[in-house]
Amino acid sequence: MEKIWNAIKGSTRITVRIIAETVHRLVINIFDTLLGFLNLPEKKLRIKIFILQDPQSIPGISPADLDAAIEYAKRSFKKNFNTRLLPYKTGEQFVEVLQKKAPYEVLYTKGSIGALGEEFTIAGSFFASNLRGSFYPVTAFVVLDIDHATGCSLGPLTDYVTLDPDGAKNASTLAHEIAHACGLWHLGSKSNLLWRTFSRGDEVKWWQKNIFRSSRHVTYW
Ligand SMILES: [Zn+2]
Repeated sequence: MEKIWNAIKGSTRITVRIIAETVHRLVINIFDTLLGFLNLPEKKLRIKIFILQDPQSIPGISPADLDAAIEYAKRSFKKNFNTRLLPYKTGEQFVEVLQKKAPYEVLYTKGSIGALGEEFTIAGSFFASNLRGSFYPVTAFVVLDIDHATGCSLGPLTDYVTLDPDGAKNASTLAHEIAHACGLWHLGSKSNLLWRTFSRGDEVKWWQKNIFRSSRHVTYW
């Protein structure tokens, strides 16, 4: 019964997000859908990063391990998208260790298409119920391991991304995963922020600005 309930909740969450994203891109943020490359005015993107603890209550990494990634994302988003990266609430820390115990399926999560399947299971329900705000902010969860990846995002279908300890300690992976959450997909250009691996650069194309800035996560307030 719980399995069916998790599947129903997962389908509902995704359907609502597809509708919300469409409304933002075609109505509320239509200016940026068409003219986002102008990078005006400055917009805001609010995030929260939760480090999960292993079954012995030991966090996968320490909050300071994310300093480089946060600085990189701040600088990259300001430079490329004229968007200020902010914590969920003014004065709040970007990073916190989540005190709630996460199930095994969350600590050892799947990447890419497997992650979509997990949206309909106990893992998806856990991520959804521990978000720091729905629809607008992006919550990043640092898990213990991701299958065949160091970070994962289901794009606009969810309000969260995941990182494993290697991804969290790498400077550019947080920015890369948040960019996925804002609708951007992989590009085959090594100098681009949307290159798959750690060797990526920090450049973006003009049309990536339109897509990023018209995301529901990138707001005027
Ligand atoms: Zn990626």
